Amino acid sequence: MAENLKRNDGLPPAMTRLVKELARLPGIGEKTASRLAFNLLNRPRDEVIALAESLLEMKERVGLCAECFGLSDAPRCRICDDPEREHDLICVVEGPADLMAIERARTFGGIYHVLHGAIAPLDGIGPDDLKIGELLARLRDADAAVREVIIATNATVEGEATALYLAKVLKPIGVRATRLARGLPAGGDLEYSDSATLSSALSGRREL
Ligand SMILES: [Zn+2]
Repeated sequence: MAENLKRNDGLPPAMTRLVKELARLPGIGEKTASRLAFNLLNRPRDEVIALAESLLEMKERVGLCAECFGLSDAPRCRICDDPEREHDLICVVEGPADLMAIERARTFGGIYHVLHGAIAPLDGIGPDDLKIGELLARLRDADAAVREVIIATNATVEGEATALYLAKVLKPIGVRATRLARGLPAGGDLEYSDSATLSSALSGRREL
C-alpha cells in the first residue's frame, strides 16, 4: 500500500504521510484515508488541533486499571474504586468494549476483570497471553473473598474455548463460576449486543 501511495498520489508529502497513518487504522482503506485527510485539510485549524491533542492526551493518560485491567486514567478505575459496587462478584470479559456494553445495560452491580483477548490457538494466543494469571491472583486473595465469577466471554469459538479453560482453572480455587445464558446470538460479540439481551443473559446465567 505504501508503494501505491508513493507511485500515484501526487500529494504533498505531509498529506501522503497522514493518509498512510490513517490507512493503518482498522476498517480504513486507502480511499477512506484520503477522504479523511482532505476533510481534515479543509477543517478550521482549531478543530484539527483539538483532534491531534485528544489523540496525544488519550495515549498519555489512559492506561489499564491495576485491579481489573479495564481502561482507566488513574491507577484504579472508577468501577473498582466504587464502594457501592459488589466487590465479591466479578464479571470476566474479553475486552474493554464488552465491559462498556455491560455497563450500558445498567443491570450489573459487581466489578470486572478484562482478559484482553480470548484463547485462539490458530492465532497463537494461549492462556498466558491473557490476564488469566492476574484473575487467579485476585481470586486467591483472601481479602477479596470473591463469591462468584461470571464468565462473559463472547459466544464465539474463541470465547467458548476461553470459558471452558476458565471453568477448569477456577474449579480448584473453589469459587462459584457461571456463564452468561444462551440469549446471545451464536458467534455474536458481546459489545454489539443490545442492553435487553445482555440483561437477560446476565440474569439467566448458568452454573459451570
Ligand atoms: Zn478496575
